[in-house]
Amino acid sequence: MKKLTILGSTGSIGVSTLEIVADHPDRYRVVALTAGKNLRLLQDQVRRFKPLMVAVVDSADATVLRAALGDQAPEIVSGLEGLVACARHDDADMVVSAIVGAAGLLPTMAAIEAGKDVALANKETLVTAGPLVMAAVEKSGVSLYPVDSEHSAIFQSLKGHRSGDVRRLILTASGGPFRDRSLDDLVAVTPAQALAHPNWEMGRKISIDSATMMNKGLEVIEARWLFDLPGEQIAVHIHPQSIVHSMVEYVDGAVIAQMGIPDMKTPIAYALSYPERLALDLPPLDLCSLGHLSFQKPDLQRFACLGLAYEALEAGGTAPAVLNAANEVAVEAFLNEEISFLAISDVIRCALDRHEPTSLKDIAEVLHSDRWGREEARRIINSKN
Ligand code: NAD
Ligand code: MG
Repeated sequence: MKKLTILGSTGSIGVSTLEIVADHPDRYRVVALTAGKNLRLLQDQVRRFKPLMVAVVDSADATVLRAALGDQAPEIVSGLEGLVACARHDDADMVVSAIVGAAGLLPTMAAIEAGKDVALANKETLVTAGPLVMAAVEKSGVSLYPVDSEHSAIFQSLKGHRSGDVRRLILTASGGPFRDRSLDDLVAVTPAQALAHPNWEMGRKISIDSATMMNKGLEVIEARWLFDLPGEQIAVHIHPQSIVHSMVEYVDGAVIAQMGIPDMKTPIAYALSYPERLALDLPPLDLCSLGHLSFQKPDLQRFACLGLAYEALEAGGTAPAVLNAANEVAVEAFLNEEISFLAISDVIRCALDRHEPTSLKDIAEVLHSDRWGREEARRIINSKN
């Protein structure tokens, strides 16, 4: 029986994780759940999965939840301290890190330092603090399993091979809802259009990141740290069907890919059950009905965010934390209709231009750069309006 803490249980990844748990009650038990705002869903989850501890962001929400659950209320905590208490819970064997954004960093680090294995969906943890996180993983001797479908595909494609034989990693990207739009056509796209992803159902922030292709940029940085390869050895191919989830090319020219229908349950389940595979009730991949799979090069003019992520990775140190922070603020501003779709990359570029990257010594420096990036992005947005 594996005992789980799920950070971000009310989100898209959190809900899919709990569906897997519900289908395999003989293998998994929930120890702790955490959520941001969605109290109604959290209440239902508590009644159903009976965790020992629950954390919410606001203390006022903790009071509301306690009252609503009455006799059924577990220990309810709040704030960063509460998230960290869930992440470190003595009874948990594994922590599923599925909070969105840099808010996931500290609880994920706490889990690693407390000796928990981590199933990592929160890519922002590695984007902002990659070298520090990987050093903590090594020091604690824990395992970090990728949940992101591309990284799960690479993890699977690396099995049984020598890391020294890898020539490059090829991340696939659907290209999002605007894959074939011209730059002129992108000027006036709305949040609703940007949220309508063709292949995947995801949270709002990652859906916008997919439309700008910043999601793929963040994933390049995530891959750099997970698989210890420089940016030059990490390529991106647009693959509209989202069937090949990513590939590894070896020095002899062999390319190993992992395929499947686009459903996050497959990579989540693999992270939970590694090295075994869980039986999942998903439709099989039917390549014959699909007929063909296609690939193309990403256009960095239309999807400037992808190029910015490569630049931030190259600049190193604090630059990726600033890239991520400016992106979070710009995405929120786009969703609130304060800025246009194309202005998202302008805001990030401007923040990066004003930043002097320094090397990452500790988490405090990551948090400082994150704060700086947010404030700078806010200033840039205010000056535009
Ligand atoms: P989501 O927005 O659906 O859910 C986010 C969860 O985090 C919710 O439970 C929310 O309440 C909680 N949360 C939000 N802000 C918080 C804060 N400040 N403090 C504490 N909790 C907070 O997001 P998602 O789509 O499930 O994505 C979660 C993470 O997984 C992201 O980092 C994303 O990039 C990554 N990921 C998601 C998918 C996907 O298919 N959804 C795929 C790959 C990777
Ligand atoms: Mg992904």
